[in-house]
Amino acid sequence: MTLQAVNVEGFRGDLLAWYDRHRRVLPWRALAGVTADPYRVWLSEIMLQQTTVQAVIPYFLKFTDRWPDVHALARAPSGDVMEYWAGLGYYARARNLHKCAQVVSAEYDGVFPDTEEGLQQLPGIGPYTAAAIAAIAFNRPANVVDGNVERVMARIHAVTETVPGAKPQLKKLAAMMADGECARPGDYAQALMDLGATVCTPSSPKCMICPVMTHCAAKAAGIAASLPARAAKAQKPRRHGYIYWIEGREGRILFERRPEKGLLGGTVGLPTSAWVDRAIEKTHLDFIIKGKESRVAVRHVFTHFDLELAGVTADMGEADIPEGRGYFWVDREKAGMLGVPTVFRKALKQFI
Ligand code: SF4
Repeated sequence: MTLQAVNVEGFRGDLLAWYDRHRRVLPWRALAGVTADPYRVWLSEIMLQQTTVQAVIPYFLKFTDRWPDVHALARAPSGDVMEYWAGLGYYARARNLHKCAQVVSAEYDGVFPDTEEGLQQLPGIGPYTAAAIAAIAFNRPANVVDGNVERVMARIHAVTETVPGAKPQLKKLAAMMADGECARPGDYAQALMDLGATVCTPSSPKCMICPVMTHCAAKAAGIAASLPARAAKAQKPRRHGYIYWIEGREGRILFERRPEKGLLGGTVGLPTSAWVDRAIEKTHLDFIIKGKESRVAVRHVFTHFDLELAGVTADMGEADIPEGRGYFWVDREKAGMLGVPTVFRKALKQFI
């Protein structure tokens, strides 16, 4: 399709004027006229990957309360970082976050690089996160394109091709809109995100109160709510396994720290069997003796598959548990207090 010309200067001016009046107050965001703290910007951007603002806020506050700067986070035991992260999902982010803090603390004297190229040298910082930090923390011109910005671009330019195929085109359009003289690249990036989050929302965009409505081709064509168009999603596979509530002597409960590599790597939770593709193929952990199937059933949605775990209880002696595989005992009354990922939280609620 032919894209209509957009008055880039006018769009940016209207957007920034709206941002000055309506910007969201967020715990990691510097107040107007105040220089942003790169540590807080970096921490928030890692937490916000694949995660909503509302879910991130309590975690961000907890982290910054416990570890107020990058040196403090670098010194933290990795188990504490994983425990504080528990429930936020995508656990590789927490491992990389900790590695990144250690690198910035030890090799950069606690000072984050201020360019996209420099930031991308650090663990866990890809092109999007580097662009976001460079713009927001250092006011550098950068093309910061998240899902909100893609949606705004699709609508402003009335791009009717489906995503994900249209993503490169939306990124180019965003680059074109961000290009050229702009004294406030950080505010521009955040203004676009705020517009997408609060006005140009996925369903029912609030076009009648939109500060950039006069620049919007989708509004003019009456197709705003239908954009961006999405390709049909393939159905997710389902995996199956057992989750165990194993009581030892004196009522202690068996937990496991999962291996560093892989899904939920480095996190603490109840032991589970391997997760397999067909329910009838699931098999118990090799050391389980006289396990009893319980009524506990846990369903959890991961990005690439759905998981169903059947609960099993067993009483076992400490000598029956293999060593060197990350298993450890926890007093029963403390079992519900550990920082564990959501899938284990769901199981604990049923077992306890
Ligand atoms: Fe989004 Fe409507 Fe504003 Fe266009 S006019 S940017 S569709 S809210």
